[in-house]
Amino acid sequence: MYNFNYKKASSRDDAVAAQSSADDGSYLAGGMTLIPTLKQRLAQPSDLIDLADVGDLAGISDDGGAITIGAMTTHATVAESEVVTSKIPALAALAGHIGDPQVRNRGTIGGSIANNDPAADYPAGCVGLNATIITNKRELPAEDFFTDLFETALEEGELVTAVSFPIPDKAAYAKFPNPASRYAIVGVMVAQTGGETRAAVTGASQSGVFRAADIEAALGSGLDAAAAKEVKVSADNLNADIHASAEYRAHLISIMASRAAAAAG
Ligand SMILES: Cc1cc2nc3c(=O)[nH]c(=O)nc-3n(C[C@H](O)[C@H](O)[C@H](O)COP(=O)(O)OP(=O)(O)OC[C@H]3O[C@@H](n4cnc5c(N)ncnc54)[C@H](O)[C@@H]3O)c2cc1C
Repeated sequence: MYNFNYKKASSRDDAVAAQSSADDGSYLAGGMTLIPTLKQRLAQPSDLIDLADVGDLAGISDDGGAITIGAMTTHATVAESEVVTSKIPALAALAGHIGDPQVRNRGTIGGSIANNDPAADYPAGCVGLNATIITNKRELPAEDFFTDLFETALEEGELVTAVSFPIPDKAAYAKFPNPASRYAIVGVMVAQTGGETRAAVTGASQSGVFRAADIEAALGSGLDAAAAKEVKVSADNLNADIHASAEYRAHLISIMASRAAAAAG
């Protein structure tokens, strides 16, 4: 680990000001990704700006048609939330299957989406459920937020403050997890909201989360699980690594979409 300055921010403004006055500042949320990265000397920020004491960044509110989750809300809190469990059970289940209890008790939704790991679960949850990402500067549809592997539309110093999820008519998430880390080898969020059907895929593509148009067409308005299973997904531009070939991931996309549709229906 290289040396860095440590600052515990007391408010959103304090955090943003500390970041902008640092040479190369990084926000620290749950630290589940950032701390191992620092330990391995893969990053060398001049300053760490800890968000733990910015109380109004954590919490869950039910705004009627949508549920808004503060950036510093942990995966465990989302998984156990009565509001999320009753209004968007697919999202509670997604959060409840991230990593292990230690990771769920420290990792946050803001840290997860800012990091945009290609195998993370929340990107599929956000795109599939047509979430809006709220920052200290603007509001962005999830589809415009996730731009590439570990890349987002966040500008230098921009702070994710919350994520707002419209309440779907039906939704479910199915994941084929890596047996060690629980990251998604392939994960698919299927959702139907106001007549629109979405299928968002994580873990599979070389450029991160994406909507599978052919799966969405097969699912149709009835979330036809059998039709989704029959879709032959192309392996072009899919990830291949020691865990799964591109062809196997292509196969898993149809299977996970079909399982999610069956569960949602
Ligand atoms: C063993 C292990 C298993 C895991 N398994 C899974 C899994 O199955 N599925 C899954 O989806 N994830 C998994 N994760 C990832 C984990 O769930 C966290 O979501 C992830 O590590 C990032 O969240 P964090 O709060 O720890 O962020 P940090 O590590 O603190 O930060 C990550 C990055 O986001 C930036 N950042 C943090 N908060 C903000 C903000 N509010 N605004 C702007 N930028 C911000 C930081 O500067 C940093 O660059 C796993 C992690 C570990 C260590």
